[in-house]
Amino acid sequence: MNLHAFTSIKELKTALDQKNITPEQVVSFYLNRLNELDGEVESTLEIFDKASVLKEMQQGGALYGIPGIIKNNICIKDRRTTCASRILQNYSATNDATAISRLKEAGAPIIATANLDEFAMGSSTETSYFKKTKNPWDLSRVPGGSSGGSAAAVAAGFAPWALGSDTGGSVRQPAAYCGIVGLKPTYGLVSRYGLVAYASSLDQIGVMTRSVYDNALVLSEIAGQDERDSSTLPEPRKDYTKTLDGTIPKGLKIGVVDNTLNAQGIDPEVVARIEDAIKEFEKLGATIHRVKLPTVDYSAAAYFVLSRAEAASNLAKFDGVRYGYRDKDATTLNTMYDETRRDGFGEEVKKRIMVGNYVLSSGHSGEFYQSAQQVKRAIRQEFIQAFEGVDVLLMPSQAEPAFKFGEYDLDPLKMDLQDYFTCPLNLAGVPGISIPCGMSSSNMPIGMQLIGPHCSEELLYRVGYAYEQKTPWHTMHPELKK
Ligand code: GLN
Repeated sequence: MNLHAFTSIKELKTALDQKNITPEQVVSFYLNRLNELDGEVESTLEIFDKASVLKEMQQGGALYGIPGIIKNNICIKDRRTTCASRILQNYSATNDATAISRLKEAGAPIIATANLDEFAMGSSTETSYFKKTKNPWDLSRVPGGSSGGSAAAVAAGFAPWALGSDTGGSVRQPAAYCGIVGLKPTYGLVSRYGLVAYASSLDQIGVMTRSVYDNALVLSEIAGQDERDSSTLPEPRKDYTKTLDGTIPKGLKIGVVDNTLNAQGIDPEVVARIEDAIKEFEKLGATIHRVKLPTVDYSAAAYFVLSRAEAASNLAKFDGVRYGYRDKDATTLNTMYDETRRDGFGEEVKKRIMVGNYVLSSGHSGEFYQSAQQVKRAIRQEFIQAFEGVDVLLMPSQAEPAFKFGEYDLDPLKMDLQDYFTCPLNLAGVPGISIPCGMSSSNMPIGMQLIGPHCSEELLYRVGYAYEQKTPWHTMHPELKK
């Protein structure tokens, strides 16, 4: 078989099954490519050596010999899990996350860890302590975040799949910016055991691939109840590729979230690409309904409060005693705590911990935390109601294509607005998939989100796959210089 960087998982599986290629050859191919080209993109934090990758690879299984890259806030036993933070720079995980142990059982070789915004806090991967990942379509632009390393790696053809995590959009936004497919599953479909917590009521591990079919293949291996995460749903494990036949269910109703297309500051090119996608869905036989989700407009503000509040609690455990970095010069316990956290965390993380503690503090929690919880309930209700009238919802993943490095340095609020179209789904707990739906005039990818009710991943994949079969976007790839 003629192996190339953008070979799909589906093709790789067939070639491996027919013994046209060996798992070792596939692993070597991607490791070589990574070692040769990642200097340009800087998508990874650690590239594993071939001998250890092959040693850990289990025989057989649905992903036997199909390499993947893991966002570095998901624990891999005996590998460094840094969360792109100085405070965990030398922390080596003692256990596999459940998603990782399932992937290992499926025979998947893990070849590298991916860069991210520190503790998954950000939208550009610029808050990583270690490096700035570039968008492979244009190295002067960000890959998005916080799973920017995972997205850039998959887009650049360094591996056919990667895992990311999505608390407010961190799988879907970088997927849109890098022109790949990113799924945020229903809250509770994938175990969070071994995912370093950011905002536990919103966090989900998600799958990033170059096509919808490949995405479904990986989700099939990691989804399903886990006794080590009591928030997982009693969903049976299933094969999410089963219904992918290029059609959509008869009479499918798609609700276009009209208020998102009129949102302030949205790039007209994004609106135009979404309108093109709507026409494709009509050709596939869907009926289009125009709907409104007014609470979307309040979601980013509510997400801002809730994510910071939960982050402040979750990050309290990094105190220099139990994990990672410790300031060695401190002479008292209290100065040790202070100095460890002062030097161990970056600016963005510290800012969020402070905001989080403030919104939870007595006298302020009613004004901020409680009202944010009310918005959370309202958006949840709004989605439930919308799905009484339509089967899936359609809206942009982002208001514009990937921005340039440093573009929002002077306007941090604009950075927080990156979560505008994505965080409502985390608040409601519903699944969403970002799928490439066109290119901008600056040759940057544009993404759309398909959203369904709780546990409708099978339907989202089916609809997304049918769209993909009719459009060329998933076949377009960036060209790296070398
Ligand atoms: N951009 C959002 C944030 O910084 C989303 C992050 C995420 O989903 N992990 O909070």
